[in-house]
Formats: sequence, structure tokens, C-alpha cells
Amino acid sequence: MSQRRPLIAGNWKMNGTSSGGAALAQGLVDRLGKGTHGFDMLVCPPATLCAPICDIAGGSSLYVGGQDCHAAEKGAHTGDISAAMLRDLGCAHVILGHSERRADHGESDATVNAKTKAAWAAGLIAIVCVGETETERDGGKTLDVVGGQVAGSVPDGATGANTVIAYEPVWAIGTGRTASPDEAQAVHAFIRSKLVERFGGEGDTFRILYGGSMKPGNAAELLALKDVDGGLIGGASLVADDFWAIAAASR
Ligand code: PEP
Repeated sequence: MSQRRPLIAGNWKMNGTSSGGAALAQGLVDRLGKGTHGFDMLVCPPATLCAPICDIAGGSSLYVGGQDCHAAEKGAHTGDISAAMLRDLGCAHVILGHSERRADHGESDATVNAKTKAAWAAGLIAIVCVGETETERDGGKTLDVVGGQVAGSVPDGATGANTVIAYEPVWAIGTGRTASPDEAQAVHAFIRSKLVERFGGEGDTFRILYGGSMKPGNAAELLALKDVDGGLIGGASLVADDFWAIAAASR
């Protein structure tokens, strides 16, 4: 049995306004209650909702995170937010290098690497996303692509405490298609081997999340895999019952 505590992380993407976001977060806080659970739970709302959701989560075990941050500490970067701004609100994590950021904003491994260092400097845990496209998988390039992303996006100095890796096959995000347990475990084990190769025994302490159409119906078999230490969940994290059912499947 893994010593790594599962992390169940919700990526709300560009969804939610004040009332709906508050109700969703409150529903999770109520379910978490004062009890202890076998998992950590995190929600990453859009930047506009980080402040109110941090307020709702305050005093509970629900963690709140950002979906991106700039690599610079502050300055002339209109429309961006810094890691310190997220931390200031009470965020503990930030998702970096999501495939939608890599595609929509041309984020390279070097950019993600710089953002990860900025996140650490502000006291945030970086959730670094990697994953191959369908064409890359069909071309037998999955491990090359994922290995390259891990090498380039994760800076020296990464530890299991300051960094989480999310393996998200791009073809599985928001498509309803999921990696099979064998496919997921193979890539997770490969990422683990790269982390151990680079960081020694510390590599065994990193949590590696699976992301890509995880739902209540498929969560248990994915979360039971040896090197799957939780999930990064998009669509299903927008419904409190579904997100909670996924978390419950990790126990
Ligand atoms: C994601 O965006 O990180 C994700 C995994 O989305 P979905 O669960 O909707 O596939």
C-alpha cells in the first residue's frame, strides 16, 4: 500500500460565477465536515473566485488552488496574476502547464519550469501537468513526450512536498475517453522511474495524479493503481456529489 496520501483535485477551468461556485465549495466543506478522511481535497476555481472560495474553505480541510500563475513576482503583465497573489488569498496550490494552457497560450516546458519556481518561491505547491496528444500516442511517442515534459517542466529542487505531477493524456481530457488502467499505470510508473532517476528516493514521495475524464464510475479502478496517487478532475469536479464520489473511491 502506498504511503502517499491521495490528492483529489478539481479543476473548474473557466466555469462558475459567485453563487454557483460558492454553493459547490460549501457542499464540499459540508461533506468534509470535521471528520478525518483518507485523502486531501483541493478545488481550483477560476481566479475571480479564489478569494470567496478561500473564505468558504477557511477553517475546513478543503484546499484551494489557482489554475495558473505568472513566472514573475510582480510587474507589467496585464491580465496575469502572480503566485504571491494566490498565496495571499489563502491558496496552497497552483496548476501549471495544463494542456489547455500549453495549447491556448503556447506554454513551453521552459515556461512551466519558470512558473513552478515562482510558485515555490511564494510557498505554493505546484501541480505540473504533462500528457501526450492522440497523434503522439498513436505514433508510439507517449513515453518520449511525457519524459521530455517531466524533464523540462520540473525544475531541480523539486520534492514530493513542493510538487505534484498530473499525467493527463490530452485525448482523454473532456472527451469521455479514459486511459485504461494498464495504459495509465504504465505511464505513471514511467514518470515515477524518471523522478527516482533524477531525485533518488525522494522520487518515491511525489504524488502523481491521473487526469482525463475521471468520473465516479471509473475512479475506483484508476485510483487503485500502484502509481496513481489521486486525480485531477475537470468536468466531474463541477458537481459536488460526483466529485465527492470520486474522492470516496480513493479510500
Ligand atoms: C482537466 O481538465 O484537468 C481534466 C482532467 O478534465 P476532464 O476531467 O473534464 O477530462
